[in-house]
Amino acid sequence: MFGEPLPPGIGGLSTNYRYGMTWDGTLAPHHGSDYTSALGQPVIAVGAGTVFYGGPDMGPFFGIKPDFYGNVVVIKLDTAWNETDVYALYGHLDTVLVQTGAAVSAGEVLGTVGETGVAYGPHLHFEIRIGDDPTIYTRVRNPELWLRPQPFHGVLAGRVVNAAGYLVPGQRVYYECANSRKRHVDTYWDIYTPSDRVLLENFVAGNILAGECVITTEWAGTRIEKTTRIEKGKLSFVVLTLPD
Ligand SMILES: [Zn+2]
Repeated sequence: MFGEPLPPGIGGLSTNYRYGMTWDGTLAPHHGSDYTSALGQPVIAVGAGTVFYGGPDMGPFFGIKPDFYGNVVVIKLDTAWNETDVYALYGHLDTVLVQTGAAVSAGEVLGTVGETGVAYGPHLHFEIRIGDDPTIYTRVRNPELWLRPQPFHGVLAGRVVNAAGYLVPGQRVYYECANSRKRHVDTYWDIYTPSDRVLLENFVAGNILAGECVITTEWAGTRIEKTTRIEKGKLSFVVLTLPD
């Protein structure tokens, strides 16, 4: 697992628009995680690696069209996964402070938060991409599975399936955990924000304080509930099966 893409206290995850979510139907399914932060704040390497590309998202380009991500930095991380390359992408940067081909260490400053490309105000758009071609827009994975939780926190992931066992898209899942109000996450809306091939999850909520969690969802007036325990530094997995 990797570190955070922003230094401590610089910004936080925007939970309305997590990976695979649509911000309540207003935006396309999200290929990464957004972090709210002020213009000009530093963004940092989540792990050691090599700069695959740093500069304008024009050639090569990483989104659905040129300049989608504005100024972008893509790091090929030294840590591969199941013999597959892993890349971290930082979009909408104001400035890029590393050169293509440079080696970077974990925590090294790569650039600054901006609003270049297709962005609504300053924020960091962060993605994890896998495989041998990081320019492919759909080779993404949920970043919340790849970032180390804060101390005393763990990660909740799961799957909402129908009675036949198929993943159900766009299903709102509520979770109420130790010392926290009820929060929610939606299951991935489409096939272009895929699951991890081993976990086959369709939702993830990272950074949950260790303790008991009640996870619920509703389907045709029926409430489906599961309880799990979040352990520090670990992933807890639940399966919610909707009735016929
Ligand atoms: Zn984004």
